Amino acid sequence: MKKKKSRMLVVYTLVVIVLFGGIFALNQAGNNGNAEERRLAEAPAIEGQPIAGDPNAGVSIVEFGDYKCPSCKIWEEQIKPQLQQDYLDTGVASFAYVNTMFHGEESILAGQASEVILMNHPEQFWDFHKALFAEQPAQVNHDELWVTQDKVLEVAEATVPDLDAQQFQTDLRANEVVDKLMKDQELVDTYDIQQTPTIVVNDRVIANPFDMDEIRQVIEQELE
Ligand code: CA
Repeated sequence: MKKKKSRMLVVYTLVVIVLFGGIFALNQAGNNGNAEERRLAEAPAIEGQPIAGDPNAGVSIVEFGDYKCPSCKIWEEQIKPQLQQDYLDTGVASFAYVNTMFHGEESILAGQASEVILMNHPEQFWDFHKALFAEQPAQVNHDELWVTQDKVLEVAEATVPDLDAQQFQTDLRANEVVDKLMKDQELVDTYDIQQTPTIVVNDRVIANPFDMDEIRQVIEQELE
């Protein structure tokens, strides 16, 4: 019983940290008039994150994304496949995804579900990732509720054929999962990520994540 209580406390703490961070980020987003490339102190550490492509590739691409964010769905469906084909499938770059929970409890629940899949079924992670974005209603209203316990379970069952539904639901609140999200939140804070999706190539923050030419140019420069 005590253990359960302390777990809940950790989850509530996470909710508070993420909500305050999110409000700050939304306020800041309005101040980012001109998008300019920004350099971080270093390429974000991707240890413990889901990684596609060759993890040892010379170029590291990191997406700070949110399953609840409409732009992230568009990025996943329009830009990611081009990166996948040209840079990930060819072993030129690695790609990691960091949960950036700017939309409150739904972002957190989606993040929890993704970390459970990564922990228990890593080989199915990217299928789950893609399927969850596919479930985001198109033309979504920011406030419309769609990430629910039923929805994440439905997507998990669709992508992991032998899923233990009860275990999945229990693991959503596992300490390990909460720790992983706190680690993601730390990266968001450390690198002062203000909007989603934010795409980082090595230590360079792409000014416009929807400009495939810019992304290509930065990758090519980093390869030299
Ligand atoms: Ca993570």
